[in-house]
Amino acid sequence: MGKRIVIALGGNALGNNLPEQMAAVKQTAKAIADLIQEGHQVVIAHGNGPQVGMIQQAMAELTRAEPEKYIPCPLSVCVAMSQGYIGYDLQNALREELLDRGISKGVATVLTQVEVSPDDPAFHHPTKPIGAFHSPDEAKLLIQQRGYQMVEDAGRGWRRVVASPRPVSIVEIDSIRDMVEAGLVVVACGGGGIPVFQTEGHHLKGAAAVIDKDFASCVLAQQLEADTLIILTAVEKVAVNFGKPDQTWLDTLTPEQAEEYMDQGHFAPGSMLPKVQAAVQFARSAPGRSALITLLEKAKDGVSGKTGTVIRQ
Ligand code: ADP
Ligand code: MG
Repeated sequence: MGKRIVIALGGNALGNNLPEQMAAVKQTAKAIADLIQEGHQVVIAHGNGPQVGMIQQAMAELTRAEPEKYIPCPLSVCVAMSQGYIGYDLQNALREELLDRGISKGVATVLTQVEVSPDDPAFHHPTKPIGAFHSPDEAKLLIQQRGYQMVEDAGRGWRRVVASPRPVSIVEIDSIRDMVEAGLVVVACGGGGIPVFQTEGHHLKGAAAVIDKDFASCVLAQQLEADTLIILTAVEKVAVNFGKPDQTWLDTLTPEQAEEYMDQGHFAPGSMLPKVQAAVQFARSAPGRSALITLLEKAKDGVSGKTGTVIRQ
């Protein structure tokens, strides 16, 4: 019996630049096609860290070169551009892979807006570094002229940090559901979604933020009433004592066990922690739901219970 699966693709599924992404999506398409071939309904979400940084930097160069002609590009617009570019590569690679296997199925990307709360405390504590590295003098100028918040990033230079608010709901969810139910393979919530908040009337205003794709994928899976949330990343399983001599890979976890390990600090903030938090939230959202964290290449084996870390009640 086919399941409804939401897949969250991590950085290793897309690479860091144009040629890397072009090559990576070919492998990614194979992993996704394996699940479609087995009869599962697949919805794809993905990250956009390197891509949104690249686009933001390019747009900033344009403004620097011709300030009378171009205004600074809002971050929400940069996220939208990244969804278009990544969606294009994924649609192209998946279409080819499916046709090569004799599967005729439409693949479509939905530019997805995701509502965040203007009161989210994350707006007062930006944590997510994006874009180019700057000298201290450039950083000072950007703080004065644009009101950016800048931090020194691990000895590599100064970078803009942006807010990473929690996703509240997916604006295009009904369109996404209709497309899934019509049998299409849908790419949605790219880069965590275009962050927007409600102002007066029906107006949605773009927010200067980047939403975490693990949390956005969790909301997408919940709102689509998916059976499984699969977070595909660069490790086959989640570990306790990660990187230490007594490192132990985990096969299955209850939400309660996962929380205990979280409290003990086993999962790194900004990388594994949001994945485990998203997995716990999804597993708890309704009976019978499970989340799987595994390696991109192991997606098929993971779904058939052969590998990965599964979180379920
Ligand atoms: P993605 O781009 O898929 O979101 P991240 O780099 O953000 O990938 O997160 C995955 C990384 O988290 C792994 O490659 C691993 O290096 C790191 N990690 C941190 N803590 C753990 C842990 N406890 N178990 C496994 N991996 C961990
Ligand atoms: Mg990540």
